[in-house]
Amino acid sequence: MTTTPSDPTLAVAKHPVPSYLDPKNLGPWEIYLEQVDRVTPYLGKLSYWAETLKRPKRILIVDVPIHLDDGSVAHFEGYRVQHNTSRGPAKGGVRFHQDVTLSEVMALSAWMTVKNAAVNLPFGGGKGGIRVDPRTLSLPELERLTRRYTTEIGLIIGPEKDIPAPDVNTNPQTMAWMMDTYSMNVGRTATGVVTGKPVSLGGSLGRADATGRGVFVTAAAAMTKLGMPLEGARIAVQGFGNVGNAAARIFHDHGAKIVAVQDVSGTIYSGAGLDPYALAVHLESTGSVLDFPGSEPVQTHEFWGLSCEVLIPAALEHQITASNAGQIQARLIVEGANGPTTPAADDILRERGVTLIPDVLANAGGVSVSYFEWVQDFSSFFWTEAEINARLERIMNEAFSSLWAVSEQHGVTLRTAAYIVACTRVLEARALRGLYP
Ligand code: NAD
Repeated sequence: MTTTPSDPTLAVAKHPVPSYLDPKNLGPWEIYLEQVDRVTPYLGKLSYWAETLKRPKRILIVDVPIHLDDGSVAHFEGYRVQHNTSRGPAKGGVRFHQDVTLSEVMALSAWMTVKNAAVNLPFGGGKGGIRVDPRTLSLPELERLTRRYTTEIGLIIGPEKDIPAPDVNTNPQTMAWMMDTYSMNVGRTATGVVTGKPVSLGGSLGRADATGRGVFVTAAAAMTKLGMPLEGARIAVQGFGNVGNAAARIFHDHGAKIVAVQDVSGTIYSGAGLDPYALAVHLESTGSVLDFPGSEPVQTHEFWGLSCEVLIPAALEHQITASNAGQIQARLIVEGANGPTTPAADDILRERGVTLIPDVLANAGGVSVSYFEWVQDFSSFFWTEAEINARLERIMNEAFSSLWAVSEQHGVTLRTAAYIVACTRVLEARALRGLYP
């Protein structure tokens, strides 16, 4: 039986509203809409079609019931949003998180449309998620959840329709379950239905580190433009999962110093630099970055004001806001995460002369290697890791150079430049295809 606490603030303290659901803050979808409004004046005649960008093509909300290990039945809410398919099948990850909302999945799917077009991959944008705290489920429960969710969204996904991939709290094992479930339902082994699979199941070499590698490649290109030496550069990373961990390792391998890491458990700092390889082992064994030998703990809110040259938000959206953008010391911010910076914070950073490489460019390394995986699955011919990394670097460097040139040409931020290039590509496809019927 549930009891109502006599003091309502007790309930609030136990279930705090996520910052981006606070009515004072814009939700992720509203933030995306504001980003589209900012770019529309640069679209010329294509602005005729701009409303297309503000409406997801297809939204599927599904009930995901599973048997828990104790024999009871639990229901979870799942989503798959296909924001736009003008340039190709929808593509984007699947997130398992207790704060997943439709607004979030819509925004994430739209950012995939922009990202895929910004780096010129032949995909539209999609995203999925389940509102669940996966830490509360056992492995068999997680498998049942993943399989039922895949069956429910199986109506609209497929190698030529919509190709999911890992995102927060999902991984190659999740993709293996999704691939197997879809394959069982269609009666053939369809490896190309998801990317980010284990290499032994049609996955691609280089996929695991691809997003972090892309973060590094674009950061290094920007540092060259800005005259910032890589050797000894101090890097602060928020999030030490797939993206943050790989980015930290690759920066470390190139002589930069990882001075601070924040994850869900807390924040650590070392002026001498943290070894990300040893930190990954520590995290694996203790479940937390805290108490890493040689580091000192830092208050969560102090992370943003730490002295560093490069700041990499690689956790969740809505982290750099009007309330902390003024404290940031870094000269360069590289968005490993999707949507970590609000439009108001963008303006503050721009005024302060901080260069920001937007998510739709900085973290596109993951979907680029997902694209390679999808191509390899179709042709059943697999490339070497060196080939993958070389092609990844080429895509990221070419995209960086062209967006940098557009930002200089129009005197706009790299985010606006990315939106100009991407929205032009999407709307050109829209205009050429015309409206059916
Ligand atoms: P992950 O689940 O592997 O890691 C998430 C990390 O964020 C963990 O270290 C976690 O502790 C940390 N975190 C969670 N809540 C936090 C909080 N409140 N404060 C500080 N840290 C917190 O996820 P991931 O795959 O690394 O994804 C991270 C971000 O990168 C997401 O925004 C995701 O959409 C984006 N992204 C991921 C990929 C990919 O290939 N995985 C590709 C492009 C973009």
